[in-house]
Amino acid sequence: DKALPVLEARAVAKHYGALAAVDGIDLKVMPGQTIGIGGPNGAGKTTFFDLISGFIPVTKGEVLFMGEPIKGLPAHHLARAGLVRTFQVTSGFTSLTVWQNMMASVIFGARDTKPGLLFNRGNRARVETTLEAFGLSDLASARVEDIPALARKKLMVATAIVHEPKVLLLDEPVSGLMPSEVDEFISLMHEIRARGTTLVFIEHVMRFLTSVADRALIMHQGKLIYDGPPSGIGRDETVRSVYLGGA
Ligand code: ATP
Repeated sequence: DKALPVLEARAVAKHYGALAAVDGIDLKVMPGQTIGIGGPNGAGKTTFFDLISGFIPVTKGEVLFMGEPIKGLPAHHLARAGLVRTFQVTSGFTSLTVWQNMMASVIFGARDTKPGLLFNRGNRARVETTLEAFGLSDLASARVEDIPALARKKLMVATAIVHEPKVLLLDEPVSGLMPSEVDEFISLMHEIRARGTTLVFIEHVMRFLTSVADRALIMHQGKLIYDGPPSGIGRDETVRSVYLGGA
């Protein structure tokens, strides 16, 4: 009995006029996998993310979440069903506190939206447990605009993970962080992986990609040019010529 893909792209394409930003990608994301996507600027990574999370419609092909086509379902509906994504630019309500951001995320993602029931014990406990797991408890009452970049990045993941997503899509989780901060984030990602969350992320920081992912995809001009173990990226001639540039 083989497990079914939790998320699947079938010959997915996105055209902008004559440009094929995503040019026919097939992908099966299996439960528990951690997939890292790399590739040069303009390769189509963010567009592919937008397609597989239902933020933009495909030009061709089909995306399935839990075996069902996502066509026509709004992104917030998919988020409630367990397909959650974050964005490259750190979002959130910067004038609110860390705790308030977490609670807002829980409330907006709640399936049961009876007013008055949302600040209940269960939701409070989820927020507190997640903040603890991310090392953010001490910053709970700090305003987001006052916390360091690393903590903001962690908060972005925490507000997504508090929903206990089936698939979590992260767009450049460590962009702009210093090397020591990247190391800390790598440990955090290993803890998230250990919970069994299925992860797909885009990341230019190769050290992060190779140490967190168990499967790497490299995109170039809207296509997948590599799909395999992260350890094989550096040895792949095509990847070296278009992406790593002898680095
Ligand atoms: P980066 O690493 O710089 O974030 P990327 O791999 O995420 O790049 P995309 O942002 O997906 O690449 O862009 C792929 C191509 O599609 C680029 O040539 C971009 O200019 C083009 N593109 C993306 N969105 C649109 C749009 N809304 N309209 C027209 N062209 C677009």
